[in-house]
Amino acid sequence: MALFVMKFGGSSVGDTERMKRVARRIVEKKEAGNRCVIVVSAMGDTTDDLIDQSKLLNPNPPAREMDMLLTTGEQISVALLSMTIHQLGHEAVSFTGWQAGFRTEAVHGKARITDIQPDRIHTALDEGKIVVVAGFQGMTDEGEITTLGRGGSDTTAVALAAAIQADVCEIYTDVNGIYSTDPRVVKCARKLDEISYDEMLELANLGAAVLHPRAVEYAKHNNVCLVVRSSFTDNEGTVVKEETVMEQGVVVSGIAFDKNVARISILGVQDLPGVLAQVFTALAKAGINVDIIVQSGVKNGTADFSFTVNLDDCERAIEVIHGIRDEVPYDHVTSETNLVKVSIVGAGMVSNPGVAAKMFEVISQQGVSIKMVSTSEIKTSCVVDSEKLHDIVRALHTAYGLDTAEQAVVGGPQVRR
Ligand code: ADP
Ligand code: ASP
Ligand code: MG
Repeated sequence: MALFVMKFGGSSVGDTERMKRVARRIVEKKEAGNRCVIVVSAMGDTTDDLIDQSKLLNPNPPAREMDMLLTTGEQISVALLSMTIHQLGHEAVSFTGWQAGFRTEAVHGKARITDIQPDRIHTALDEGKIVVVAGFQGMTDEGEITTLGRGGSDTTAVALAAAIQADVCEIYTDVNGIYSTDPRVVKCARKLDEISYDEMLELANLGAAVLHPRAVEYAKHNNVCLVVRSSFTDNEGTVVKEETVMEQGVVVSGIAFDKNVARISILGVQDLPGVLAQVFTALAKAGINVDIIVQSGVKNGTADFSFTVNLDDCERAIEVIHGIRDEVPYDHVTSETNLVKVSIVGAGMVSNPGVAAKMFEVISQQGVSIKMVSTSEIKTSCVVDSEKLHDIVRALHTAYGLDTAEQAVVGGPQVRR
């Protein structure tokens, strides 16, 4: 008897028909003799709708109240899914994140899981029940409700799979698995049968929404057998694992892009020792993550430098910089928001020179200038204007030999099981 964690994303439970299809799929797994713990997201666009609704009442709502609001989306899903399973003649029990034993740090909006005490899950499984857990939520030691960051139900599922030592963690979504790039943008994207934790972690961190980065981190550290597959088809999906067989000649295995990028430039900064440290310490204290940093040469005792932050943090980052002007004298600060970060990822890049140069050439052929670059052993990222994003991604996909003849399967209603 195997123990499965099955996670269903918002699009998989977007309406009652989809909810029924998911329930049937779960029941099939149970009737095949398995024990099943289900993690489910809020239905369809519920989370976005709740955010929009809150902004109508308060453009800058308290983070605590946002978490209180957003966790309701997943609570609706677990109750409805549990009822649907009952309707199919099986016993199911739904739990909120805190009932399921998820403890988190005391950070609203993007809390990390600190501990899971899955006693109630084990008891319910021992009673033969299907357990349905609300994704994306937990509780602090002080009893405050928290969320794990957008897309965080993946992390709930993988962390739970590790905590209860599940045999497999299946992430059911609206595409057939992990592709060489977003199949909504490149129709001839290549579906991967397997991908290494490290490559997937890069893709996820660089914007591939198909898996939450922390979910991949958990899977890697706990060696969770992780499978991404479609809730609408029977395709076997993609296995994320430690070691994969590298396909001959494949240097770049994936392309990711992140639209949530803002660039902030501080111009005319006095070139004194410790200036960079002061700026980035102040940003870190405000909980703002900085990504790419570029400093220009010193002229007349002053320097300019630019860095990128998540779009949501842009305004706050500028406030922080205004706030330290007395300690760090500078001329002025500017920001740009119509930007994207495009990245190529591949373990094969380590041993192949010229891979980044080819990327720069492909982007220049699109008539687009590159504003910032960052590299690591297995990735190169370029920040560019957002206007020609899709053309750039398609051109890179072709240039690195990733196009396939098949059309990617995206979304669901037309592909009923
Ligand atoms: P869910 O609601 O199931 O969590 P998400 O929207 O969070 O689904 O993630 C699935 C989406 O991720 C796909 O519809 C696809 O557009 C996008 N995506 C981005 N990059 C990739 C990739 N490399 N492979 C597959 N899907 C990707
Ligand atoms: N409902 C949350 C979101 O939309 C969590 C998730 O779907 O994973 O981000
Ligand atoms: Mg998701």
